Amino acid sequence: MNDIPAKPLPEISNLTKPFWDATRSGELHMQKCSQCGHIRYPVGPVCTACLEPEHTWEKMSGKGKVLAHLVFHQVYHKAWAKEAPYSVIMVQLPEGPRMFSDIEDPAHRYKDADLVGREVEVRFRPMSPDIVLPWFKPVE
Ligand SMILES: [Zn+2]
Repeated sequence: MNDIPAKPLPEISNLTKPFWDATRSGELHMQKCSQCGHIRYPVGPVCTACLEPEHTWEKMSGKGKVLAHLVFHQVYHKAWAKEAPYSVIMVQLPEGPRMFSDIEDPAHRYKDADLVGREVEVRFRPMSPDIVLPWFKPVE
């Protein structure tokens, strides 16, 4: 099992740096359009609603609701070989954006569960000194 490669991590750019700075502090921040107030995610250079580039960074509540739940049995990348089957969820944030997320589920409790409609809360998983990934955990 020593031949399992490390998981590929996002690269930090000038555009995404505030997002990653916030996750390292245990907070989920997203861009808020200065023109129309649209909360945009993924991070981008202009508002997807009105094309305005100016924005501020706003702290999200960290809460959400599961819109979709998939279980991956196929290993598409060797870095996930030990984790399959694993769950991937789409989370609707109350602020508007939707995020894909995995769920920490070492005992495979959620493999056969239907998580659609469940309330979730953001958690943060350190992957490297620079990258702390946001992920969501069902509220028990
Ligand atoms: Zn806008």
